[in-house]
Formats: sequence, structure tokens, C-alpha cells
Amino acid sequence: MDLSDSESEAEQVSPVAKTLPVKKHVVKAPHWRRELRVEVDTNLNGDRIVMHQSVLQEILSAAGTEPLPNPLSFKIAPLGTSAIAFGAVKEFTASSEDIVQVSQTLAERILATEALATITCVSLPKCEYLKIAPLDPEYLQIPDLRALLESHLRQNFSCISEGDVLIVSSPLKKLNLSKSTAKDFRFLVSESRPEKSCSCIDVDINLDVVPLDVGLAEDAVRQKFFGSLAENSAMKDVFLVPEGNLLRGSTSGAVSAAAYTYYRIQAEGNKPWNYTAILTSDAGDCDLFVSVSGNEKPSLEEHDYYNIDERESRISFSFGGTDAAMDVPHLYIGVRGYTPDAHFKLAITRSAASTASSGSGSGSVSVLETSSSESDAPLPDHSTCSNCFQQVPQRTLPMHEAFCFRNNAVCTRCRTASTSTNPLAYVFKKSEFASHWHCDACATVGNSMSSKEKHEALAHKAIPCECGVEGLELQGVAEHYGSQCPERLIVCRYCHLRVRAGKKSLAAKDLMSGLGLSEHESVCGSRTIECIKCKANVQLKDVQVHAKFHEVQKQNQKLPPLCPNSQCSNAPNAQYPNMLSLCQPCFSPYWFPSDPQNTKVATKLLGAYHQQLTTGCGRPHCTNRLYCATVKEGGNMNPNDAAVVALEALRQSALFKSGSLSTYHLCVPDAKNAKRREMADSLQGMGFHVSWCVKALAESDDDAGKATTWLLQNAPSLTNKT
Ligand SMILES: [Zn+2]
Ligand SMILES: [Zn+2]
Ligand SMILES: [Zn+2]
Ligand SMILES: [Zn+2]
Ligand SMILES: [Zn+2]
Ligand SMILES: [Zn+2]
Ligand SMILES: [Zn+2]
Ligand SMILES: [Zn+2]
Repeated sequence: MDLSDSESEAEQVSPVAKTLPVKKHVVKAPHWRRELRVEVDTNLNGDRIVMHQSVLQEILSAAGTEPLPNPLSFKIAPLGTSAIAFGAVKEFTASSEDIVQVSQTLAERILATEALATITCVSLPKCEYLKIAPLDPEYLQIPDLRALLESHLRQNFSCISEGDVLIVSSPLKKLNLSKSTAKDFRFLVSESRPEKSCSCIDVDINLDVVPLDVGLAEDAVRQKFFGSLAENSAMKDVFLVPEGNLLRGSTSGAVSAAAYTYYRIQAEGNKPWNYTAILTSDAGDCDLFVSVSGNEKPSLEEHDYYNIDERESRISFSFGGTDAAMDVPHLYIGVRGYTPDAHFKLAITRSAASTASSGSGSGSVSVLETSSSESDAPLPDHSTCSNCFQQVPQRTLPMHEAFCFRNNAVCTRCRTASTSTNPLAYVFKKSEFASHWHCDACATVGNSMSSKEKHEALAHKAIPCECGVEGLELQGVAEHYGSQCPERLIVCRYCHLRVRAGKKSLAAKDLMSGLGLSEHESVCGSRTIECIKCKANVQLKDVQVHAKFHEVQKQNQKLPPLCPNSQCSNAPNAQYPNMLSLCQPCFSPYWFPSDPQNTKVATKLLGAYHQQLTTGCGRPHCTNRLYCATVKEGGNMNPNDAAVVALEALRQSALFKSGSLSTYHLCVPDAKNAKRREMADSLQGMGFHVSWCVKALAESDDDAGKATTWLLQNAPSLTNKT
């Protein structure tokens, strides 16, 4: 009763306890939409677009104080069609306010050359996952497919949508190989997460290359390894279909002694699953072997899991949710005949890994505890039977022992091995005890002569391995083939092809990396690609460390110096510091040849604020909205109020605070200087310190589009501190 109660409670509680996935915060796009004429610019690549400077102004004012989405993306919908595409702004340098310039490929995708299109500012979530399906079976010729796709995406796309086709020119072209191999490869973006259209600038995308359909994949693999498209008839698919809260598939068949029938199941390795495979022999006997590492023909000699129990072989295992699992599209099952003409049923179930482990697991443990504690308790007025060691009431002991010695046999090996005193574990009827057996070489126990024969025939037979290892037995096969055998097949993490692993690489560098590289991977990962940041040639196996290095370097840069005047974009001259910590032009009006008490500078500064607040600087470019009557809301301040505000402003100066904490709000005469600071203030919304925004504008001639790109590439972001 207790058990069932607690279980049903747990069932009621668990759905509530599950946390919903937190939706990632996405910056809202400013409300901006316009009809523009689509023009092809052959200098543009991928989905980069160019619009007029006025668009940026409009967007900045539409955004107000809200941060701008990054990158600034736009939906392009040609009028009168249902086609849409997404593009990200490269620059705001178009010659006319009425056009949007796009690349040839983007124009072709929406068939919109010289047409009017509605352009809407949108905010796309950062892409987390892309499923990419090759459309040409020759794709396996590409040496490092994933790296190639990643660099193609980086160079050509800032937004990606389901249904986009990537046209990747063959890397073999560069090597001047024959024309037949040097073709372009097409890849379909078949799935994109978290949404159907995502931004893919500066993101770590989980890229999944999956065959578009099973047949295509089979063709591709066969073409690569055998150069032909011969049908592989021995392999049968088992499809899992929903049944209750799990997936289930079943099949039946017949197999002769020592022969195999193979089955294949779609793996879906991106999530963790619990599998159970049950093989039941209807006639004769056969055994079950499973491969979760891509071996198409799991057998007695090469497998990841096995079960050779008589009549029914059952294997439960977990698979999926790891990087390696993503590269294994199928699980394989081998059924091996033990007796001639075995007929069998095979059933496979799959359930989500989390629910199954918490559900049944805890229940069965508590059952065991209950039964063992009950039988451990000593009973009053009882004695122990000297044959079966059971507790028997004292008055019936002679009768029990007489019966017990005649009929029961006790297996001492079972009794020693058993942790409980429950006699059912080791007391046998004498007739049954004759066929009870223990293996001398392992812990296996059985209750029939046939199972003993089978165990001796299969379990301790020496199993030869291609690698020449000796003394291998069935129990050691999975471990040997899974992690030690140099002849085993692995999926190389760099070329993503199934290759012989070779020995574990013992190169000092590989050992230190902790990646556990095989000899093949050590060599394969030594190929280099050019780092887009520093142009250095980086080995594939160092790419992650190298990228991390750049990221840390970027995040740890010292803030560029910036004048503490909120209206100014100059850098203070570190060689000639002044008492107000201002830049040279900002400080010049406050310089006095002799001012030991700082009274002259304080009076002058107070006067300057008062003047700004009461009459204003009168400059058309001024944007000093809180401290200058020329642009202030409410216009000129009365002298008394102005005196109070001016005094408070003076208290924020370096005369009262340490230089690094001081702030000023002084109108600046130089229009370019003021304009740059104003643009920098609005760029801050992208998540960068204003000092970096000023530097970005200085580096890109005050072009907001170029400055945005510069910031993303060079400035430490305030949001992802490392
Ligand atoms: Zn007894
Ligand atoms: Zn025994
Ligand atoms: Zn054994
Ligand atoms: Zn081996
Ligand atoms: Zn490789
Ligand atoms: Zn680099
Ligand atoms: Zn300044
Ligand atoms: Zn002003």
C-alpha cells in the first residue's frame, strides 16, 4: 500500500515540477517599414543588403532609447508575390533613398529584380541549431563537410531560413581536379531552431548534416565505399511508432544456426533515449546483438551490447544526447541463430530517457529493501534448519528437517553469493538441482543443461579480432571494440566519416588536449583552416581553443580612453593630464596660469553651466538636451533654478570627485565631435560600452553600418562577459 501511494503521488507531482524551457530574450525590432525598389549589386554576397543613410536615421529614431537588434535584419517581400527573404544590412551607403541593393543570389531567390518590395525591420532570434540535408549524393567527397558549411554560412549569410539552399562550391575546385568532381554542391536547410528564420552572425550553431532521405544516404555511402549502387538486401528497417507514451516497433523472422539477420532503426541521436530490445524465440533459439556506434552488422565478434539468454534475450540501453551520437544516424541489431531454423519475434521500444529512469527505477529499489529487511529479523521460538538455513518454529523443526533433507538441496555458491537470507535464492528441489550450474570462469548461473552448453559454446570461446589481440571473450568484446581496438570504426570528429580508429594518439599535444584523439583524428585534425580574425593557419583540432583565445582576448581589452564630458568624443591626452580629467579642447577654457585653491576654475565652470542653462550655447549641432537651453525641453531656465542645477553639475566634476568618476555636460564647439558622440550613444544599445562605440565610429569614418560591424568583430560585449 505504502509503495503504490507514494508512486501515485510522485506521478501527480512530477509534471508540475518539470520546468518549461525559458524563452530566450530577443530584442524587439523598431517599428519600421518601407516600400523600396530592389536593385542588384554584383559586389554584394549572400544576404547582405545596402540601404540609404536616411534609413538608419529613421530606425534610430523609431527605436528611441530601446537597443537595436543585432544584426539589423530586414524582411524583403516583393509586392504581388508570396516570396520572402531576409537580409542584414552591410552598409547604409545606397545612393538613393528609394532603393535596396541586394546580391544576385538573393534577387534570384525572390525573383525580384527591379521590383518593388516591402522592407520591414525585424528582430530574429540567434540560431542555435540547423539541420542541413545534402541534395547531391556526391557530398561525401568533401573532405571536411561541416567546416566547409560553417565557413560558407559565415561568409554568405547573416540570416538563415528553413528552405534556403546553400550552394557551396567544391573545395576540390581549388585543387584543379578533373571537372567531374569539381562541381557545386547544393544543401537544403531543412530545419532551423529556435525559429524558422534565425540570425546566424556571431553565434555557435549546432550544425547537423543529415541525409535528405535514407535512400539517398545509402546511395551516397555505397558510392563512396563501393563505387556502385548495389542493393543491400540483408538489412531491414524497423520503424518505431507512438504507442502510449513511448515508441514501439516490432518484426519477426527466421534465421539458421550461426547466420545473422540485421535490422536498422533511425537513431535520433540529438536527444537521450532509453531503448529496450526484446528477442523472443518461438522455435529454436537465437541471440541478440546491438550496435550503437554505426556498425551495420553487429555480431558475436563486434557489438556494443549482447544477450545470449535462452528463449528470450533482452537488452536495455541508453543512447543519444551526445555529440558523438549526432553522427550516428542508425542503430543496428543483429539476430544470430543458435539452433538451426530459429523463428523469432523482435520488439524495440524507445522512451525519453528522463521519465523512464525516474519512474520505474525508484520503485523496484524500494521493493528489494522491504523484502530483505523482513527476512533479516530474527523470530522468537524459531530454530534454523541445518539443511536449508530457514527459520522454522521449534516444535515443527524435526518434521521440517526430515522432509528438507530428503527433498531439498542447497547451492552453497548461490548462498555465499546471495546478499539476502531469503532461502528461495539458493534452495532447490533435488530434481531441479541436478541441472543447476555455475560457470567456473564467470558469475553466470543457470538452471538447465542446455543453457550450460550454450554458455560454454559462446561465452568463453576465444573470439578473434582483426587487430590480433588475444584472449578476447564475449564479455570483453563490447569494451574492446568500443574503446580499445585499433580496427574499430569510429566517426571522425573532423571529417565526419566512418574510419578505422587506429591506436589512441600518443602525441604529447594530443594527450594534453584531453580530446582523446585517435591516430586518424590526430592526422585528420592537423589540416589547417585560416582564422578569419588573425589570418593564422589553425589546425582543425585547435579551432575551439583558438576561437576561445580570441574571445578572451576581445573581452579583456582595456577600455579606450574617453573624455568624461557627455557631449564629447575626444580622448583625453594621457601625457598632459589636467585637473578636470577632460580632453584638451574641453579643458582649454578652464586653464589658469595660477589657481592654487581651484577657485578660478570652479567659478568658471559654474558660470559655464549657468550660462548654458539660462541662455544656451546657440549652436545648431548641439544635443546637450539636459544642460543647454538651446535644445532643452522647456527652453531657458530662470537664473535661480539654473544656479541650483549648475551647482549640482559642478559637484560631479573632478574638483569634487576622483577623475575617473567625474562627469561633465559641456556643450562642444566642434560639430563633428558632438555628432560622433551622439551616434555612439545610440550604438550603445547594441550592448557595447560607449567608449568602444566612439572608437568604432572613429575607425569607420562615422558610418553607423561599418561601425556596427566593427563593434561585433572587435569590441568586448557587455552582455557575454567571459
Ligand atoms: Zn530446511
Ligand atoms: Zn547455485
Ligand atoms: Zn562463464
Ligand atoms: Zn581488436
Ligand atoms: Zn577524419
Ligand atoms: Zn586567430
Ligand atoms: Zn572633451
Ligand atoms: Zn549647447
